[in-house]
Amino acid sequence: MTQTSARTRRTMVLCFDGESRDCGGACGKGCAGMDQGRASPRRQVSVLAILAARGYHHCPRFPAYRGSPSYRSVRMPVCGRPRVACRLGLAAAVLVALPPGLAAPPAPPPPDLKFAADRPLDVQHIKLELAVDLEKKRVDGTATITMTALRTVESVTFDAVDFVTQTVAGSVGGGGPRELAYANDGRQIEVFFGQPVAAGTPVEARITYSVEDPKDGLHFFSPKEDGPEAPYQVWSQGESIENRYWFPCFDHPNEMQTTELIATVDEKYKVLSNGKLVGQKAAGPGKVSYHWRQDQPHVAYLVTLVVGDFAIVEENWRGKPVQYWVPPDRVDEVQTTFGNTTRMLDFFSDHIGVEYAWDKYAQVCCYQYGGGMENTSATTLGERALHDARSKLDATADDLLAHEMAHQWFGDLLTCRDWAHIWLNEGFASYFEALWGEFDLGPDEFAYDLWQKASGAINGGKQFPIVHRAYTSPDQQFDSRAYPKGAWVLHMLRRRLGDETFWKVINRYVSTHRHQTVETADLRKTVEELTGGSWERFFYDWTERPGHPVVKVRLDWREDEKAAEVTVEQTQEVEAFHFPLTVELRTADGKATVVRRDVTDKKQTLLVPLSGRPTLLRVDPEQSVLMELEESKGQDLWLAQLKDDPSPVGRIRAAQQVAKNPNDANRRALAEALAADKFWAVQNEIAEALGKLGGDIAREALLAGLKHEHPKVRRACLGALKNFPKDEAVCAAVAAVLEKGDASLRVESAAAQTYAALEVDDVVVRVTPLLERESRRDELRSAALSALAQVDDAAVLELILPRTGREHSLDVRQAAVGALRKYAVRRQLVLDGPTQQRVLDALAACLEPRMRRLRMTAVEGLGELGRLAAPKLEELRRVAAADPDGRVREAAKRAAERIEQDRPSQEQISDLRKQLDEMKSKNEELLRRLEKLEARAGAGPAPVSASQPAGAVHSP
Ligand SMILES: [Zn+2]
Repeated sequence: MTQTSARTRRTMVLCFDGESRDCGGACGKGCAGMDQGRASPRRQVSVLAILAARGYHHCPRFPAYRGSPSYRSVRMPVCGRPRVACRLGLAAAVLVALPPGLAAPPAPPPPDLKFAADRPLDVQHIKLELAVDLEKKRVDGTATITMTALRTVESVTFDAVDFVTQTVAGSVGGGGPRELAYANDGRQIEVFFGQPVAAGTPVEARITYSVEDPKDGLHFFSPKEDGPEAPYQVWSQGESIENRYWFPCFDHPNEMQTTELIATVDEKYKVLSNGKLVGQKAAGPGKVSYHWRQDQPHVAYLVTLVVGDFAIVEENWRGKPVQYWVPPDRVDEVQTTFGNTTRMLDFFSDHIGVEYAWDKYAQVCCYQYGGGMENTSATTLGERALHDARSKLDATADDLLAHEMAHQWFGDLLTCRDWAHIWLNEGFASYFEALWGEFDLGPDEFAYDLWQKASGAINGGKQFPIVHRAYTSPDQQFDSRAYPKGAWVLHMLRRRLGDETFWKVINRYVSTHRHQTVETADLRKTVEELTGGSWERFFYDWTERPGHPVVKVRLDWREDEKAAEVTVEQTQEVEAFHFPLTVELRTADGKATVVRRDVTDKKQTLLVPLSGRPTLLRVDPEQSVLMELEESKGQDLWLAQLKDDPSPVGRIRAAQQVAKNPNDANRRALAEALAADKFWAVQNEIAEALGKLGGDIAREALLAGLKHEHPKVRRACLGALKNFPKDEAVCAAVAAVLEKGDASLRVESAAAQTYAALEVDDVVVRVTPLLERESRRDELRSAALSALAQVDDAAVLELILPRTGREHSLDVRQAAVGALRKYAVRRQLVLDGPTQQRVLDALAACLEPRMRRLRMTAVEGLGELGRLAAPKLEELRRVAAADPDGRVREAAKRAAERIEQDRPSQEQISDLRKQLDEMKSKNEELLRRLEKLEARAGAGPAPVSASQPAGAVHSP
């Protein structure tokens, strides 16, 4: 699953920097630049909670949608937990030696470990007959659940939250149906058979119930409440444990059953669910009923229901229907978005060696859904997955589509037995999306994807192991351990086994366990069966312990012995990891010497005889080990690596290293590499490095880069030019991009952001025209608003504030509220009373129901304004008490507390201090000028104090 739902669930995200769409953790706010395409707001919140627990502050701009559906690197702040634990251990040792009378501190409570759920009965089939009313947001249903007792039982308990139950009937041992006693406590329904039921006895329960606008699991939308652009639509989101909000089930991943769904809706709507469409027929005046049947077993969280007005485009793949369900006015984006679907089905089926298992494959694009969810045979996607030809220049949805499709095997055909093993779903999907990229786009893209995933895996995997039981909610398991680190475990397995054996393992694992639940040991045993080796150490290092090796490699040349001495040291505090490490040394004669050693100790040294001094050292050239790597070698070797390393990752690492020494020779080397490199991602990293280095050489190289044919390179060069404020050539070049536009929307957006950062006077003049420019999803208007928010000019408020109103699109409103928040927080000390009131009113107007992101941004903005927002305290308290969304309630509670305590954040304080300093120096400058004028005019001293308090200054 990969989701960034605006209103709801799942995703793992996260660049929480709402403004720069791709900060990748670089916003410097301590935010967890986690994967965007993949975390529910709830999970984002849980990630934030984890960060807070570790002492990291929230990114105040959390968490707007980052745009690209693609799952990208997770850069979480470093957690010091292991060291803390170590210190606690020392403290405990000291306490043992304390004299009697000094009591030891109380032992910490034992961790609450989670295991797979108990299954007293085996569920065979769930049949749902539902009347779905989109206007009333109501489902009236009957669920018939067929089971067999696995031991003697007298009752069965289903997860069912907030159900109104009408009747419960059932049968035991094939007898006739009869009414049964039941208890419904609002969380579960327990059905009593009225007699002991022996193991092996078939039983059936039939529950007639209704649910109305469920809090979770089933999400209704309507133009009435969600704005004029919203359609009538409902979609479900079951993972991890939310389908219990709309049908009764054993809602745990260790139960597989066949399912069937008959939904009756208004005839203007279509219904999508799992499996095969058995039939579609009129069901009374104005009604139609759709009958879907999934006759291969799957887990309850994969059951899906989507109802709405969709256009369906269908093609055929190996005799099975492949469908694209899209909003009726987006049919022309089906080909640009989904053009690779059947090739992906070929790729996965052929490489796994187990053909796509389900009766059809549908992908449905839903309103306000973020990311994707791999519901069996019917993947749910957000509308943002759709791309036209222009937006495809900046990003495609292919990695998201490949991720969800891979889940149709890893997650759906084989499902993790309990949430401790969720990496068997998400790690596989993440790695297989990369494998698709390798197949479709080539080895450079694959290498770069893994490089980014490594960053997430390293930063997010420090505290807990991948297989981890001490979690509070299943959602906490969907973090970078499951996704990028899981992907890296598979990648390391592949590198150790070689491609041929790796694919044999995958085939054996899938063939053996299809339609079963799996745990990590099942994968290990498959590897062991096929290789005869012991793989316990591998799985211990990478799935059962946290962290990763931190490796220092040092190269010394021994002229006497004509040998290179390579020292490999693991510097992490914990015990050594075991891994094979490859080192490649090249010499001036062009010869490459490759050495591979098993690293099992904290420090090892290799002596490699060579014909002469090495000219290139490549450590782990095939990206086979997840590690933090630091190399100690000569500058000439780094420069050679920047030019000659065949791997883009080697060149990126070289660029980063070269940039650490700011001299013109290095600037020139990077400038040459920017022009010469053939891969956009390396060029992007070089551009970033040049921006930080500054200087004429860097500026000229970046300006030349604005003409590069690849839009991502142009964008990166624009971004790096932010580091040249007030530079005339830079200002002119960026202004030209703004004026002429660019084939790529994101290049234009980046130009607006950069121009605003250049500290010139005409930002408003240059950027405002973008507010009138039409673009997909109002991307340009949003970028312009975000850029304007950086300008210290009272006039921009009149451009931003009106655009928070209901007459604007949701995207514009969201951008305007974000910009207003940023502007108001920065300039709060210079806003006059009436302006403050207008800002507060505009933010408070966005506390309306239904649009969660807007509410969240407004709530957080009010909180950041501190005491200034006191007039809206009551409204915030109301939101904290009654908002339908728990995350918004929590945020409102925090905001209200902040206003009450009026403690501005460190960041605000430093911003304000900066503003005050600027004002002070301007004031002093004015005074000097005034004194000069007065001296010339022969007048007395100026009547104004240089330390006039800022409170006396009003908006210019
Ligand atoms: Zn996933």
